[in-house]
Amino acid sequence: MAAILPPAMLGIIGGGQLGRMFTVAAKTMGYRVTVLEPDPLSPAAEFADVHLCAPYGDEAALKALGETCAAVTTEFENVDANAMRALSALTRVSPSGDCVAVAQDRISEKAWIAKAGLPTAPYLALEGADALAGFSDEALSAYLPGILKTARLGYDGKGQVRVKTPAEARDAYGELGVACVLEKMLELKLEVSAIVTRVSDAQSAVFPLAENRHEGGILDVSIVPARVAPALAERAQAMALALADALGYVGVLAVEFFVLADDTLVVNEIAPRPHNSGHYTLTACVTDQFQQQVRAMCGLLPGKTTLLTSVVMVNLLGDVWQDDGGEPDWSVLMEAPNAQLHLYGKREARKGRKMGHFNVMADSADAALEQAQALKDTL
Ligand code: ADP
Ligand code: MG
Repeated sequence: MAAILPPAMLGIIGGGQLGRMFTVAAKTMGYRVTVLEPDPLSPAAEFADVHLCAPYGDEAALKALGETCAAVTTEFENVDANAMRALSALTRVSPSGDCVAVAQDRISEKAWIAKAGLPTAPYLALEGADALAGFSDEALSAYLPGILKTARLGYDGKGQVRVKTPAEARDAYGELGVACVLEKMLELKLEVSAIVTRVSDAQSAVFPLAENRHEGGILDVSIVPARVAPALAERAQAMALALADALGYVGVLAVEFFVLADDTLVVNEIAPRPHNSGHYTLTACVTDQFQQQVRAMCGLLPGKTTLLTSVVMVNLLGDVWQDDGGEPDWSVLMEAPNAQLHLYGKREARKGRKMGHFNVMADSADAALEQAQALKDTL
């Protein structure tokens, strides 16, 4: 298929920070951008040429998106997969509705990970009110202590209940009242992620591995390069590429892994889009993950993913803002020549809300981490 070149119109479903960074990347390259987003004041629409202000599932808006855009992508996995499938009759859509459908349901996601020959945490797929009835307490104990995760619509640790006993698991499943996976709690040495850009069978690229630390179920910092043996990093990258191949994926795919005590890699989950743990690429790689999203949807070769410097990304949640919504004191951070602040333009700071991030570039990951922590302490 012929590559889509500037100044073609590109479409994105979703107007959050990922949509904003996509829009900026596309606009910088000379493309025009249409955003479909119901919020009249979204982070992405501020930069877009056209804002279709309508619900994500709005048929007329989807039709307009499909008819006016040379290609369409998404910034979030909970977009209606059928809407993506329907759009593909009108324009180029990546990732495909089928791939989005896999990523938005933990049960099919885990089945696909296994299909690709990759390991997941031991889990039970639970669908229907009496899904646990057939399991003895002893059988359930193989997955305990565990985490009950809703199959759909979970993010940033939401929709998750930690359970220790069979009785707790049964109660929690009854209370959630929706399809879930019961996943065995693993002892994690580290969490890492690899982000793949895949255009076709022969054309894919993977970014350097990020080491991720979470706070309260939300990503707190990403450290790059991940402080692991090079062989482990290569293994994770190869696994992420294999998963993208198995899915026949087109676009940017993030793969989260657990690293166990013996350096076993276990796939945690995937996201069919650029990822919070890939924001380091904005300042530290030859090509960033949003440029890759543009390139993949346009059928261009993935850009080079070479890491130019060690880097640490720190997420800035609404918690850093004053209780009355007042801005943190940015002065020290803004004066640091090797740090870059990135704010998403959200009007209201709420606890746990992703408001921005900053990247710190230094000679080593350890040095970047130390400085990043010191800078965060000044806010
Ligand atoms: P989300 O969609 O909210 O990111 P995840 O499945 O990635 O959901 O879980 C969020 C975090 O919870 C993980 O990054 C990890 O720190 C922890 N976690 C999730 N599953 C397990 C598990 N099986 N064992 C240990 N920790 C886990
Ligand atoms: Mg996760």
